[in-house]
Amino acid sequence: MKKFAVFGDPIAHSISPRLHNLAIKELNLDAFYGRVWLKDGALLKAKFNTLGLDGANITVPYKQVAFEICDVLDSHAKNIGSVNTIVKKDDLLYGYNTDAPGFLKSIAPFEGIKTALIIGAGGTSKALAYALKSQNIEIDIINRSKNRLSEFSDFNTFSWDDFTPKGYDLVVNSTSAGLKDDEFPMPQVLLKEVLKGSKFAFDVIYNKPTPFLNLANSLNLKSKNGADMLIFQAVLALNLFYNQSLDEDKITSSMQKAMSL
Ligand code: NDP
Repeated sequence: MKKFAVFGDPIAHSISPRLHNLAIKELNLDAFYGRVWLKDGALLKAKFNTLGLDGANITVPYKQVAFEICDVLDSHAKNIGSVNTIVKKDDLLYGYNTDAPGFLKSIAPFEGIKTALIIGAGGTSKALAYALKSQNIEIDIINRSKNRLSEFSDFNTFSWDDFTPKGYDLVVNSTSAGLKDDEFPMPQVLLKEVLKGSKFAFDVIYNKPTPFLNLANSLNLKSKNGADMLIFQAVLALNLFYNQSLDEDKITSSMQKAMSL
């Protein structure tokens, strides 16, 4: 039997076990997927090995630690500097980042994107900025505080006080504003000016309608929340655990079913 798990802190809220275990069952795989509440990132590799895992997903706040412990990195992980999927092969740890391709797949219905504004400068923003850049999309990044913007030297970066609002093809909320509160990711007046001239809105948050998405919808933008991104990154991860030998459509339909349970 193969053993997989998701690591994070906190981890109780993670729906990864639900997604993966239903897909494992429906694809008749001999495997189990659990969750590990890891309080100290320095123990990630030791815990992975002690549990005898074949693969793992890594969530907040350990994606960078995961990047550091892997022996081999795929190009997405290398460019982004973070790993959300680890696969053990021949005693080596292979690190992947499936957030970036998962995001691109989830915005595929938004056609003709040439410009984008990413709100936020955290770990997820990096994956999204890299994904959009790989599609030759012109990207501006705006963040509440200035210090994390220095990690985005390849992009045009702004904070609230030096940003002049304008329209974009795509506006992305990659912050956690609206997750546990009713906050906008940037001042509402500025955001409204941006959204008024924009076409598509995407929010990485998937479990509730956020003020950001509500505002975008009220201004008639075509919008999506982060549910598909969550599913697609998990689909890619499960397939990586099996050396890309599984049917992605079958995994997707199982995970979509699990999401709606
Ligand atoms: P980080 O902690 O790395 O970054 C958080 C970012 O949000 C920072 O830019 C921070 O700004 C900003 N922020 C937080 N609160 C506010 C606020 N009230 N107003 C304005 N900005 C705020 O988090 P991650 O990048 O790892 O995660 C961000 C979100 O993405 C989370 O909600 C997470 O659940 C979601 N996510 C969704 C995925 C999916 O598949 N749908 C996958 C991965 C993540 P500052 O720098 O000023 O603190």
